[in-house]
Amino acid sequence: MKNLFQLLPAIHDLQASPAFEHLLQIQQVEKGYMTSVVRDVVTNVRNKMIRGEWNEPISSREEMVAFIINKVGEELVNRSKYYLTKTINATGTVLHTNLGRARLSDEVIQHIITISKGYSNLEYDINDGTRGSRHSIVESLLKELTGAESAMVVNNNAAAVYLILRALAKDKEVIVSRGQLVEIGGSFRISSIMEESGARLIEVGTTNKTHLEDYENALTDETSMVLKVHTSNFKTIGFTSTVETSALALLKKKKENLIIYEDLGSGVLYDFKQHGIGDEPVIKDVIAKGVDLASFSGDKLLGGPQAGIIVGKKAWIDQLKRHQMARVLRVDKMTYAALEATLFSYVKGNYSDIPTIRDILATKEEIKERCQIFTEKLLGNTKHFNIQMKEDVSPIGGGTMPGVEIPTYVVCLTHSNRTAMEIATLLRQHSTPIIARIKNEEVILDFRTIEKEDIEEIVIAFTHIG
Ligand SMILES: *Cc1c(COP(=O)(O)O)cnc(C)c1O
Repeated sequence: MKNLFQLLPAIHDLQASPAFEHLLQIQQVEKGYMTSVVRDVVTNVRNKMIRGEWNEPISSREEMVAFIINKVGEELVNRSKYYLTKTINATGTVLHTNLGRARLSDEVIQHIITISKGYSNLEYDINDGTRGSRHSIVESLLKELTGAESAMVVNNNAAAVYLILRALAKDKEVIVSRGQLVEIGGSFRISSIMEESGARLIEVGTTNKTHLEDYENALTDETSMVLKVHTSNFKTIGFTSTVETSALALLKKKKENLIIYEDLGSGVLYDFKQHGIGDEPVIKDVIAKGVDLASFSGDKLLGGPQAGIIVGKKAWIDQLKRHQMARVLRVDKMTYAALEATLFSYVKGNYSDIPTIRDILATKEEIKERCQIFTEKLLGNTKHFNIQMKEDVSPIGGGTMPGVEIPTYVVCLTHSNRTAMEIATLLRQHSTPIIARIKNEEVILDFRTIEKEDIEEIVIAFTHIG
């Protein structure tokens, strides 16, 4: 045991070794930085020895120096890699929150590059040569697409909910149906956000049923708002009823300045219902039903960057824009560029330019073709995999369209001597991590969310596994 520790060189001896000098030359890093990595590696080796986990066949100081410097080299390479990495989404879930929700098109990305690489007119009025407002950047596009009087953008939809409650309902009462007090993705609860904002939550109705009288009876001098929340992530079925947005709007006759606000969650600009997919209301229709404010995410079904979009009556949105929190929650030029370019596709009616829409509308036949290309490429390259193509369904994800499943094609794989869990782990460890589903001990690749150009990479990963 004692002999083992004697193998460990002192840090200054390592620094003086030719191997250290050589590595420093090829890695082109600061000596101080490399020394700190050397320290980490030596500590690691010592800890292994202490825990009795050291089992390298090393018997001399020279071999130990070579071993440590080699490890330092690996560690330097690891530490110089970005944390964020491209990931292949083989789950079929189009809006996968853990994998970054909506992906963006080349046109959108090009606009982000142009705007962030140089200076831009982010807050500059080019016509007048004076200060402009970033709020106006996408406002006209949003007005056109939703029919609303006014619009603004904040960091995400959670921020939109917060800003609206804080600016317009602080110390006042906000009426919400008990059936809509939702929690989304574990960290966003309507009741908690309401508490943070200083608005007082008035719950009405029951979990399964809320009627217009419930809202009406709850109106007091202190009421400022009725909040309707899209029940993302879950579906209530059976003996249920909620109050239609247009009926809620009638409450405004009972109370002056009452704000009807609908948190749409996802909010769609493209009508998926026409394809029989889900029953998400189009924002334009919600506005037409008489709500004063509506908010939704930029990176859910809209298919743009992370953002919270607020549309509605100008009088209220002007107040939101002037509020101090608007500055705190504002978005930067990259988001505006991405959102502007995404909204452009909608205005021009080029819906298929938007990857989220394209992926959701992809037909079983298109997806089957991708499965076939993959299967044919893989067949000659593997001995151990059993490969089968099957019909299946993809969820939409991102807390949108709960319960909706769209027909798809998948490739199911089993390995002759490895479990599905092992295969899934190896796929995640591939240089471009591949995230697959597992069902009934099979690895399942849903090609709805796999681009044709990524097929080759998946074949390589499977070939490596053997
Ligand atoms: C997703 C969602 C949110 C949160 O939106 P983010 O853009 O993720 O902040 C808020 N409300 C509802 C109803 C949602 O579905």
